[in-house]
Amino acid sequence: MLNIDTIEAKYGGAVHVLHGLSMEVPAGKIVALLGANGAGKSTTLKAVSGLIRAEHGAVTSGRITFNGEDLAGVSTEGVVRKGIFHVMEGRRVFEELTVAENIAIGAYTRKDREGVKRDQELVYELFPRLRERRGQKAGYLSGGEQQMLAISRGLMAAPKLLLLDEPSLGIAPLLAQEIFRLIARINREQGTAILLVEQNAGLALGVADLAFVMEGGRVVLSGSADELKQNNEIREFYLGFASGGERKGYRHLKGNPEERMRHAADRHSRSL
Ligand code: ATP
Repeated sequence: MLNIDTIEAKYGGAVHVLHGLSMEVPAGKIVALLGANGAGKSTTLKAVSGLIRAEHGAVTSGRITFNGEDLAGVSTEGVVRKGIFHVMEGRRVFEELTVAENIAIGAYTRKDREGVKRDQELVYELFPRLRERRGQKAGYLSGGEQQMLAISRGLMAAPKLLLLDEPSLGIAPLLAQEIFRLIARINREQGTAILLVEQNAGLALGVADLAFVMEGGRVVLSGSADELKQNNEIREFYLGFASGGERKGYRHLKGNPEERMRHAADRHSRSL
């Protein structure tokens, strides 16, 4: 459904962040994008949604296609109309507006009133706390509730692909687990494909079908979530089964970079 083919991306023409990144999201699947801070995960989502341009960034080569259509030059609103919605990191809600108003805004590109009504009900059913607080200003919600609201706004756009950036960030562990259960439910019941950037690899691999591990702006490892959960390096560096010592990047695990890239490419092609 989404195909990212050897893209390069830069900010301000100078900060080169993505280096030949390739990955894909099949229809109806949850795909986790893992990696250390600064690997380029958020930039990858921004390259897809076009929001990279709002930060003076650009995809300078390679191709991103969605259902076969090239996204180059498509406006951010055009990307939403094509069925991709980006829930950015940091629970961006309109704090001065009520919960209900925030939810309504998510549907601004839609004309099917009946569908909008139905999805509003769905959102309140998924997140009953939001129904209880629908008349309150969003700024007064807790962090976890704001994250639920940010996801709800995305759902109101009825996307085919939801891009979720760090849904567990700054949220208490139990609430994060609840949000991930709901992410899995949205995928199961609505068939929405989800590309999920997440620092908490345990949570992400718990719901994902496939996962890609990024480092230094490219994919260094990929496979099914089950396969990656069993992978020793992933267990050690992302799932907290470390045998002690300093936390290192995946890059340091295999001495020879070429061998590492071959290994990654091989895993990558086998996962498709
Ligand atoms: P994190 O988990 O810390 O958010 P990430 O893997 O999502 O990390 P990105 O946010 O994509 O990484 O950042 C990758 C690199 O790009 C970092 O070195 C960062 O400093 C740089 N970068 C990100 N946004 C911008 C920007 N708007 N302008 C310039 N550089 C940026």
